[in-house]
Amino acid sequence: MTVPGARRRLLLVEDDPQLSGMLLDLLTGEGFDVETARDGQRGLHLGLTRSYDVAVLDRGLPAIEGLDVLGRWRAHGVDTPVLVLSALGNPADRVEGLDAGAEDYLAKPFDLDELLARLRALVRRHREDATLLPVPGGLLDPGTREVVVDGGGRISLSERECDFLETLARHPVQVFGRDQLLDLVFADAEDIGVVDTYVYYLRRKLSREVVETVRGVGYRLGRA
Ligand code: CA
Repeated sequence: MTVPGARRRLLLVEDDPQLSGMLLDLLTGEGFDVETARDGQRGLHLGLTRSYDVAVLDRGLPAIEGLDVLGRWRAHGVDTPVLVLSALGNPADRVEGLDAGAEDYLAKPFDLDELLARLRALVRRHREDATLLPVPGGLLDPGTREVVVDGGGRISLSERECDFLETLARHPVQVFGRDQLLDLVFADAEDIGVVDTYVYYLRRKLSREVVETVRGVGYRLGRA
């Protein structure tokens, strides 16, 4: 049985097909909902546009090198905890990875149990840290689907309203296209108008400023 909110979403960026396939099986078996990218460009795109609880990132990748991908995620405000997995395992390499914004660093070859234990720890810490997401006028608590309003009070959101706002709030700098939001938040819907409807709902419930319209592109979190 899937418990809503309990799925742990993991992004795996690894170009070695054998290792990627093995990790996909292992991590899926451990209850992670895994998406894979085989090169840095795809990994960068997924990390910028989707929400993950944790990412496993190789360093030597086609198209864009792993630490470059990481630096660009961080520059865009992506706070997903990242474990770098690399054949480069001397102390200077580790320091480089941690300085680039990685939370953890594991050298290849690695022990599978150790990898799993480290990933569980990263997810746990991230969930504890990031329970409350800043939004204009308050803090979003995805666990209770409420906005804790600055100056007091709480406003309840529906599941979809909360998913929508959480998607924006986890990537506060990112502008999302309407089709992207349809895909991310309303996977079972076909009418793109549902995106605008939910922007209307959120503004009515919270404030006009909570979602910013970026003309001709889409929406992003308001910057009030
Ligand atoms: Ca590689």
